[in-house]
Amino acid sequence: MTGCPISYEALLDEEEIECPNCGEFITVVIDKTIDAQQYIEDCSVCCKPIIIDVNLNQDFNRILCITND
Ligand SMILES: [Zn+2]
Repeated sequence: MTGCPISYEALLDEEEIECPNCGEFITVVIDKTIDAQQYIEDCSVCCKPIIIDVNLNQDFNRILCITND
């Protein structure tokens, strides 16, 4: 049995999002093993926190960015 090696990169995907604070596009890494998650990522441009709400259901693929203000 050779098994099926799980590629780490396949489970993590880089997505480009628009910072709701400064409007710049930044790249965030989404963990695709979790269908629905919400976490806070600091913008690499303006350093303000962005609430990233991810919903990766089969026919509902959504990444939402919300300001923390
Ligand atoms: Zn920003």
